[in-house]
Amino acid sequence: MKRLIGCLVLLLLFASAAVAQLDVHFLDVGQGDSILIITSQEETLLIDGGTEDAGWRVVVPYLQDLGVEKIDLVVATHPHVDHIGGLLPVLAAFPVGRVIADGQIHTTRTYERFLTAILAKDIPFHTPKGGEYIELAGVDEILVLHPGEDLLPGLNNNSVVLRLVYKDVAFLFPGDLEARGEEVLLTRGLPLGAQVLKVAHHGSRTSSTSAFLQAVSPRLGIIQVGADNVYGHPDEATLANLKALGATVLRTDEHGRILVRTDGRECQVFLGPPVDLNAASLEEIQALPGIGPVLARRIVAGRPFCSIDELAKVPGIGPGTLRKLRGLITLGEVEAGCASVP
Ligand SMILES: [Zn+2]
Repeated sequence: MKRLIGCLVLLLLFASAAVAQLDVHFLDVGQGDSILIITSQEETLLIDGGTEDAGWRVVVPYLQDLGVEKIDLVVATHPHVDHIGGLLPVLAAFPVGRVIADGQIHTTRTYERFLTAILAKDIPFHTPKGGEYIELAGVDEILVLHPGEDLLPGLNNNSVVLRLVYKDVAFLFPGDLEARGEEVLLTRGLPLGAQVLKVAHHGSRTSSTSAFLQAVSPRLGIIQVGADNVYGHPDEATLANLKALGATVLRTDEHGRILVRTDGRECQVFLGPPVDLNAASLEEIQALPGIGPVLARRIVAGRPFCSIDELAKVPGIGPGTLRKLRGLITLGEVEAGCASVP
């Protein structure tokens, strides 16, 4: 298993002491996309769910570990199984406030089951068009950039494309948009610039044209892609183009889960799996945000922890610290003593 020293922290700019934060989790679902966003007001947005297998194996457990109880907005960028398959288990496991999708007709069994689940649960369903804003508390703006009124040939090219803004930081989520869709998007006159780009279509050579990448000008490009996939994703030219623009490229096949956290001014990136507080070294615990040497020693002395409630009893760990630790820690198996804890 790839494990970078606990939770490797890459500071893109400067760490911030502000508590208000937006977390964007790029899950490691193998070949596919799944992105969970938790806003500064604790609203949740899930863009795609990977394959159905990844949904059960990765996405649902990940959300449960984070303590997510409901998903306010689910976005299905387009009907391919590596994007909507995992939304089936998500719809089965969590209450969902509303779903938006691209509105393309697709006749696969997976897509039919996806629509059936939405109908059965009576979840509001909407197919937005470019230029429309999506309301979500705790972000400044979510603008739908694509698709337009007229759909293009090919499912990928009609992916729902979202630009999310939180204070000074913008994220672009283009789904599997390819060159033709990018070309249309460039003519639409909507803002494309974003510091963080989810690289389109797993880094495929059919996406990420130079003109599109220049319009976005990302500082960070994140590729959700499976190791040794049969498609040859990501393409070397795409990687080279991103690097030529000065973007840092991170990939789920190399780093596992990628968490981008921003206070709206600066970004921090956390790579690799969460740290098991019941097993980690003092050094690993001390490297976590909001934890200094004193708190790290208290945590080690207070082990094992069976629940976040128990962790919250450690003097000095308040709600602000717990929020900073969310997504970065787990409480691993405890040999004895947790059975009676509900
Ligand atoms: Zn895909």
